[in-house]
Amino acid sequence: MQQTVVIGAGISGLALAYELQCAGLDTVVLDSASTPGGVIKSENHGGFLVELGPNSTLTKPPVRCLIEKLALENELVLPQDHARKRFLAIKRSPAHPLELCAAPMSMREAALTPILSPLGKARLFFEPFAKAGQGVDESVDSFISRRVGREVTEMIVAPMLAGIWAADLERLSMRSALPLLWSFEKEHGSLLRGAISHFSKKRKESKPKKTRARLASFQTGMSALPQALRRALAPDSVQLNTEVLRIEETAGGICIHCRRPQPWPERLKPHSAPGSDGATTAILAERIVIAVQSPAAARLIEPLSSKLAAALRTIPYAPLGVLHLAYRQHDVQHPLDGFGFLIPPKFKQPLLGAVFSSSLFASRAPDGFHLLTVFSGGAAAPHYADINDERVREQIIRQLNFLIHAKASPQIIAQTYWPQSIPNYPLGHFHLQQAAREFEAQHPAISLLGAWDTGISVADRIDQASKLAASANWQTLNQSKRIARN
Ligand SMILES: Cc1cc2nc3c(=O)[nH]c(=O)nc-3n(C[C@H](O)[C@H](O)[C@H](O)COP(=O)(O)OP(=O)(O)OC[C@H]3O[C@@H](n4cnc5c(N)ncnc54)[C@H](O)[C@@H]3O)c2cc1C
Repeated sequence: MQQTVVIGAGISGLALAYELQCAGLDTVVLDSASTPGGVIKSENHGGFLVELGPNSTLTKPPVRCLIEKLALENELVLPQDHARKRFLAIKRSPAHPLELCAAPMSMREAALTPILSPLGKARLFFEPFAKAGQGVDESVDSFISRRVGREVTEMIVAPMLAGIWAADLERLSMRSALPLLWSFEKEHGSLLRGAISHFSKKRKESKPKKTRARLASFQTGMSALPQALRRALAPDSVQLNTEVLRIEETAGGICIHCRRPQPWPERLKPHSAPGSDGATTAILAERIVIAVQSPAAARLIEPLSSKLAAALRTIPYAPLGVLHLAYRQHDVQHPLDGFGFLIPPKFKQPLLGAVFSSSLFASRAPDGFHLLTVFSGGAAAPHYADINDERVREQIIRQLNFLIHAKASPQIIAQTYWPQSIPNYPLGHFHLQQAAREFEAQHPAISLLGAWDTGISVADRIDQASKLAASANWQTLNQSKRIARN
């Protein structure tokens, strides 16, 4: 019998398995895919380093700690100095075409920016006096508009959040998606007062500059992280091409029924003989962690709790198109001197925004080329997500050429259509989080982990994995089961 089996070798499952192995627990990770990392996928196409999934992560303390343990510090890459600016697409007047304008990065810049009208700016500075909400949850759109006004929401906050969540903000839960801002209002009655209190507390902790969270990636791209985790795990600990079909609670442990074409390694003796197709077998575990996307988690949980399974199925995932485009530098008139740009969803454009990938990190494109990663669709404009459709692709490229003043069309390096990219927490998501905790209390040998639960970013996933690994009952549960069996 296996001590612990983690289903899903995305960053959540791998980071957890690593922490558990460090704590002395024999752990195996199963994944249906042929490579580890889940949505983290970096590819090198003739010197263009493209990220099909996440472009970067924040080096928050749990991420930094993991990077240090994996001895990956020397592979870390930080943004180039000229990549500080962020651009927003604006219209000088309704008759004007869209153009890129540097986004304000401070209150002083907000006071001077042409992105907002004098009235919009005045409303922003009125934030500390805005009425507090009374509900147990609220949409991000309604909460932010109430606090900082409609114009700031539409022109600055909506594009920034759509860039992270690819969400329709009218349907995204403020309480679950942005819990820190939600708590600022609840505890301080204002975002500004909450932020001042939060950051002054942090400043008192007086972290040395070196340890502050920075945006980062790795020389060979984000895939360096799951690959390093796989290398650090004991041999045979990550079993790929292994789809978990169902799980079953038995007196002897959790029976995990899998489909895998290849035989199991010696140390993972199957619990059952292969099924009639020769590819379906089961292994037995003392404890399992389900670290997969919510639709897959729902399928596995269904026989144990149809109620939680039904709730998991209600989490929408935003469809997203990701296109990697190479331009010859002399064909682009815009200096691309920033992180990238975002387009306010109110303009209803095919493009959500783009990352200037070769400006952000060094060595992402051969000399003489720019590499851009372009995002389209999202929950608010799903019809623009399918970039396998040539007409959608053409519209995207035409608009991009216009915004960055390109004289020639780009070369398409890679493209990915994510029909389900990022979970968008719906209103009342906290009820589902509570139901998940109740399920875990009723089934102590099963834990749930995933971006559908608490936090979508790579940093959130690593943080949640290390919190789960540190939760007290791992050793005790496994020990008590062993004692009972002996
Ligand atoms: C296009 C895109 C861009 C993003 N950009 C950023 C970014 O720049 N920065 C950032 O911080 N975050 C970003 N994110 C979010 C972040 O990357 C993800 O939320 C995070 O990586 C999810 O990790 P995970 O391990 O929870 O899930 P996943 O990566 O989805 O992994 C789940 C794994 O479970 C496996 N699985 C599913 N069902 C089964 C089964 N039945 N049996 C066995 N295995 C199964 C899957 O094959 C998969 O490998 C982005 C996400 C996407 C999609």
